[in-house]
Amino acid sequence: MEVLRSKLFSQYQQIVFGMSTRNGGVSAPPYDLNLSISVGDDPDNVRKNRDRFFGELNIDLSRIAFPLQVHSSNVQYVEKPGRYLRTDGLTTDVKELFIVITVADCLPVFLFDPKHNVIAGVHAGWKGSSQHITGEMVRFMTDRWNTNPSDIIAYLGPSAGNCCYEVGEEVANLFQADFVRYHHNGKYLLDIPGVNRAQLITAGVRNRNIEHKNECTICNSGRYHSYRRDGKKSGRMMGVMGMRVEF
Ligand SMILES: [Zn+2]
Repeated sequence: MEVLRSKLFSQYQQIVFGMSTRNGGVSAPPYDLNLSISVGDDPDNVRKNRDRFFGELNIDLSRIAFPLQVHSSNVQYVEKPGRYLRTDGLTTDVKELFIVITVADCLPVFLFDPKHNVIAGVHAGWKGSSQHITGEMVRFMTDRWNTNPSDIIAYLGPSAGNCCYEVGEEVANLFQADFVRYHHNGKYLLDIPGVNRAQLITAGVRNRNIEHKNECTICNSGRYHSYRRDGKKSGRMMGVMGMRVEF
């Protein structure tokens, strides 16, 4: 089982954090370690995969909160486990509540305010990124808890990178020129992590408090699921974050 950890989050004993890869599951290829029940994989295998991944992190599956992601810029506060409709970002100050973000190319963003003990998870594809969902989450935390953005610790997970992530002109036009470059055949390469990092910096997050797992899901086929690469038969990875009561 290959689970990605965060150097910055690991400095805080109360934080539990992990990001799955495609390695270490029981499903047949191309699913491997797939954690989604809605992509055509055998549900029994998905259950086993989930038990492995969350078991590795000592997380009780009954304590998970996850957004039913719709590529929006909607973010919300949660205090209970469960599934949350029409949202792409969750934040909580409740201990032993674990926020899950599901991805295969989209960027998973996790935030921690150590002063107020608040965590957040964001699902940022091109749509959510174009609507500033990551900046929106920082603003939400500031409004609700008086979070100072300069205290925030951020983790950007693996995602489609600017080496591979082709978009058409209409999508490219939604972003500042710094984050798109012309590729070929009327297609552009988009830098989704760059867009979200810029949203954090603009919001007041310090560059040194941002960790980026700078690996592209599309070209690292041995390690990551990618919807762009594998299409409908692509598995899904999950990132999860929570705070322990005792540690
Ligand atoms: Zn790539």
